[in-house]
Amino acid sequence: MDRDLVKILSFGVDSFNFEEALEYAYANSGQIVTINPEMIETARKNADFAKLINDAELVVPDGIGVEIGLKILGYKVRRIPGIELGKALIIKFSKENKPIAMVGAKSEVVDLAVKNLKNEIENLNIVYAHDGYFSDDEQILSEIVSANPSLVLVALGSPKQEFFINSLKKRLPNATMIGLGGSFDVWAGTVERAPKIYQKLGLEWLYRTLKEPQRFKRIFPTLPLFVLRVCKERLTAK
Ligand code: UDP
Repeated sequence: MDRDLVKILSFGVDSFNFEEALEYAYANSGQIVTINPEMIETARKNADFAKLINDAELVVPDGIGVEIGLKILGYKVRRIPGIELGKALIIKFSKENKPIAMVGAKSEVVDLAVKNLKNEIENLNIVYAHDGYFSDDEQILSEIVSANPSLVLVALGSPKQEFFINSLKKRLPNATMIGLGGSFDVWAGTVERAPKIYQKLGLEWLYRTLKEPQRFKRIFPTLPLFVLRVCKERLTAK
């Protein structure tokens, strides 16, 4: 399967559907970026982050923001929630009993997430798990490399998790690696995912903002600014 990238504000996004993205991620090692408008805004100001996204082996549109942006530009690409792709990858790698590493979230959260996943997924083979509150990156990186996982899930928030994976990429060239934001909290059961109706309508961000109003400043003005920029791109492309 070959990649077919569409461009949004100069960033390439894969046009795979969920199943194709899962197959591609399983068959190819490297860094998966679950991109959203906040990350695009960060990358516009941070050249290293922009390069990281452009060098990623797979870039999936995580939320409704990028899906809408792509729609404005004339592309029909469905969003692929990182938390769902992450879970599907765990199940797929576990079917082959492949080793998995998990890094991120608070210590009790990652432990609980591992416990819940073990109860749910047959043959789950977690060879390394560590919380995300460490000061010595190098130590954690070398511990992961020694554990030699085939799948690495990193939940440190963005862009921290993407830079962490990027440092790991050269040292673990045969692994598939994905940044998963707050997913471990959901798997641990300490944070609830938005009800299905919000998920279906692409309004998970709204639910999370209502639950945690401090997130408001992360979305505004980023989201409207992003939409405006995309509209401008659309107009200038014509
Ligand atoms: N986190 C972490 N180390 C840090 C900062 C954050 O492990 O230094 C974890 C945090 O506990 C949470 C996740 O990273 O589990 C970030 O969640 P958030 O909801 O902010 O992610 P996003 O909105 O970027 O998906």
